[in-house]
Amino acid sequence: MKSAYVKSVYDTVVQRNPGENEFHQAVHEVLDSLDPVIAAHPEFEKTALLERLIEPERQIIFRVPWVDDSGKVQVNRGYRVQFNSALGPYKGGLRFHPSVNRGIIKFLGFEQIFKNALTGLGIGGGKGGSDFDPHGKSDNEVMRFCQAFMSELHNHIGEYTDVPAGDIGVGGREIGYLFGMYRRLEGRYEAGVLTGKGVGWGGSKGRTEATGYGLVMFTQRMLEQIGQGFEGQRVVVSGSGNVAIYAIEKAQELGAKVVACSDSSGFIVDEAGIDLELLKQVKEVQRERLTAYAAARPGSVYRTRDEGSIWDVPCSIALPSATQNELSLENAESLIKNGVVAVAEGANMPCEPEAIEAFERADVLFGPGKAANAGGVATSALEMEQNASREQWSFMHTTSRLEKIMHDIHDDCYETAAQYGRSGDYVFGANVAGFMKVSKAMIAQGVI
Ligand code: NDP
Repeated sequence: MKSAYVKSVYDTVVQRNPGENEFHQAVHEVLDSLDPVIAAHPEFEKTALLERLIEPERQIIFRVPWVDDSGKVQVNRGYRVQFNSALGPYKGGLRFHPSVNRGIIKFLGFEQIFKNALTGLGIGGGKGGSDFDPHGKSDNEVMRFCQAFMSELHNHIGEYTDVPAGDIGVGGREIGYLFGMYRRLEGRYEAGVLTGKGVGWGGSKGRTEATGYGLVMFTQRMLEQIGQGFEGQRVVVSGSGNVAIYAIEKAQELGAKVVACSDSSGFIVDEAGIDLELLKQVKEVQRERLTAYAAARPGSVYRTRDEGSIWDVPCSIALPSATQNELSLENAESLIKNGVVAVAEGANMPCEPEAIEAFERADVLFGPGKAANAGGVATSALEMEQNASREQWSFMHTTSRLEKIMHDIHDDCYETAAQYGRSGDYVFGANVAGFMKVSKAMIAQGVI
């Protein structure tokens, strides 16, 4: 960060938002790319564009009281950060995880602004969630929590204002309970208010698969730049949730062998290649841990986090798809030593900044989350399109649109980086391409 203006904006973020480390990290990464853009556009400083960009338009924090199965009242905290609506209604998922706090929701909301801009689909950036932990809760407890959460959130969302979706801990089941409560409170069927709905009641075919599939489509396009593809590659995917499962599915479909995946307790290594049907059964149907996969699959090995790291499993392609800051410098060095060719982020900000620098130094292709995992939100925007026109597209139609969008995002990042003499730097390309789309709209719309 060389420009005094950019640096002063970053200092303000740190000062004004104490303790919000993930938010500082996300802002730093974007601002770090902006020096040459700010130098070429004096109007940004004149209109305090960056100062406006780093301040959410609105932040809502609310109490969520609900009754557990034993009759005890539990109280969680709910969040919705409506970050930027210059390009369209706020759009971004809801995360239910005990680690959720304001800094995490703000980092996710900030990233979402640029990711959504990159899709070119007219959606602003927002994010929300709660420190509620769905693990170990009964279906009824999850339903009561979702109803309590929506009893406040419904005041702030709508198909033209703010359209939430899923994220960690929020999948099809939770979206169903949230939508049901919204519909009851509002007294109308406003399908476009949430995305990730079930197919048959407003959901889009292909939304479940979209983030993982899109991640692999983006990575495939990166690999083509060096004359390679997924065929014959050895792949490691962290996580075993929505993004990870469908990244594994697509990578296998393209001829790769996926040998490892993880959950928050440990990871499995399956040298024969992950049995996807078994993984889906364990994670999506039984809602079990990966230990259940290892128990049912001869030849696979389970290791706890204390016994090692998934990033020590040799691979040529790594797709971190669990959570933020899950891949450290040490992990990056291990991947590089083992010959990794490409790393693309399925999760939001899973690689620590020092890890990204190490990949760049070693000439490893690196796809940042705000570009590589944009397929989920892009397909959410396609779901909104279907809701507005009361259409239901086929799976093929949706995924072929997804593929085109992911390729366009790739090419936009690639070409933007090249224009500034930074060929192959996808972090720079994604930050600058996303920023230019939002900033142009903000300037055109005046000081608001
Ligand atoms: P899920 O809840 O479906 O799965 C999350 C996975 O990550 C689980 O395997 C979980 O393990 C693991 N995990 C969660 N927290 C931690 C942790 N602290 N340490 C290690 N592992 C952890 O979430 P998604 O797959 O939807 O989301 C994964 C990532 O992708 C997130 O960063 C999310 O923001 C991002 N993303 C998701 C999109 C979507 O469409 N769903 C779109 C774009 C990005 P366990 O079960 O043990 O908790």
